[in-house]
Amino acid sequence: MTQANSGYDLVVIGSGPGGYTAAVRASQLGMKTAIVEMDENLGGVCLNWGCIPTKALLKQAEMFRLFQRAEEFGFSTGKVEFDWKKLIGRSRDVSAQLTKGVAYLMKKGSIEVIHGRGRLTAEKGIEVFEGGSLPEKLQTKNILVATGGHPLSIPGVTIDGDDVLSSKEAMVLSEQPASVAIIGAGAIGIEFAYFFNSFGSQVTVLEAESQILPREDEEIAAALEQSLKEQGIAIHTGVRVSSVAKAKGGSVNIEFGAAGAGKSEKLTASKVLMAVGVGGNTEGLGLETAGVHTERGAIVVNGRMETNIKGIFAIGDVVGPPQLAHVASAEAVAAVEFMAGKERPELSRDSIPGCVYCQPQVASVGLTEKQAIAAGHEVRIGRFPFAASGKARAIGETEGLVKLVFGSQYGELLGASIVGSEATEMIAELTLALTLEATHEELLQTVHAHPTLSEAVMEAVGQALGEAINI
Ligand code: NAD
Repeated sequence: MTQANSGYDLVVIGSGPGGYTAAVRASQLGMKTAIVEMDENLGGVCLNWGCIPTKALLKQAEMFRLFQRAEEFGFSTGKVEFDWKKLIGRSRDVSAQLTKGVAYLMKKGSIEVIHGRGRLTAEKGIEVFEGGSLPEKLQTKNILVATGGHPLSIPGVTIDGDDVLSSKEAMVLSEQPASVAIIGAGAIGIEFAYFFNSFGSQVTVLEAESQILPREDEEIAAALEQSLKEQGIAIHTGVRVSSVAKAKGGSVNIEFGAAGAGKSEKLTASKVLMAVGVGGNTEGLGLETAGVHTERGAIVVNGRMETNIKGIFAIGDVVGPPQLAHVASAEAVAAVEFMAGKERPELSRDSIPGCVYCQPQVASVGLTEKQAIAAGHEVRIGRFPFAASGKARAIGETEGLVKLVFGSQYGELLGASIVGSEATEMIAELTLALTLEATHEELLQTVHAHPTLSEAVMEAVGQALGEAINI
């Protein structure tokens, strides 16, 4: 039987970090809110199959690598072994705890959770399909589409979840693969390369662009590439994969080569991980029926995150890059506050940090040196290597550097990139500095605690001005 539920101020479709954040903020603002989710667990890809479980696995990989260095720190451990199933199990437990946390937040905010597949209708309504029964119809003042994304593949290659994997299958393999070929050296490709290699799988990374992490500063990417190669990962940049075919004995043959080189190389691996990007989940949502504009698969929104149809908003992976959980959450808060009529600025896209959680970690915010020059800035660069940091020496993490980009005329911070231990935590200071339009002098005059890794930020500013103390 079809039910019509009316009287919502907001119905959110999708309960990832975008959707659930929107629902909580709406409830705080006194809006009657429902959230529609087709998966049995709340939390979306981030909590179930992305950010959180992978960070658990990456921490375990980091620990295992650290155990190999036990003697350097004065320990005699004997051979440290691992249990693959327990490694995977811990990451699933962490994920389960957090999805329960989202359910608690929904309860606390009196947010109605409706399980099923949501679809927009012509009259700005929503139908929710569950099983074979007739849809439940919802009437609401506002709709927020926050349906997230799915892994993309390359032409002619199907992700079968068995030999050719997406990150979802790669994080729950029942056995450790002897070898993995990873197509794409963005955040996903690099994090999984670090993970599998740390536990002894033979890893080859194939990247089409001329550097790994193509969006990062080339000096930072080069430092990471050198480190990952020293760790034993084979990396080929500037190569295109031309074929992926199943081979005898359950392995996979991959052919790749430099574009236009005419000659291809062959590689056989137990598993292939496809990490060539994410596409928005816009199919089957009724966007056409509702008249919502899309462009190349992404929902078109204005600075208030509203689509061309009044009262229908969209956030997160479905509106295109940067497809990051923290972007989705920030867009969620902005969208809901605009719906509620709150005075606030549009979300600034100039100071969104990006983080990669291999070791050494990579984090950046704002413009790279190249981007700043291309944008017409005259730049002043500051660098500080962790090898010159007392704290880095004390904790045995001396790889990497901080690189800062300032405008040379006014000394304003334009961008920051870090490769090194704890880079993903250190970037917050520089994100705030960029948001507050801080200058090099303000950063240099900020007293940094000693001994900390973040002193390297202050020293990099000093280096830009010829005033660094420890280099
Ligand atoms: P991505 O777009 O960041 O990287 C994909 C890479 O694949 C690119 O470097 C691209 O040049 C390469 N590529 C594309 N086609 C290729 C081909 N035929 N052969 C070889 N290389 C090819 O995508 P991703 O790493 O899959 O991640 C998806 C999204 O999720 C991104 O927006 C990413 O930033 C985000 N993410 C972020 C984190 C994090 O913040 N730590 C972690 C995981 C994912």
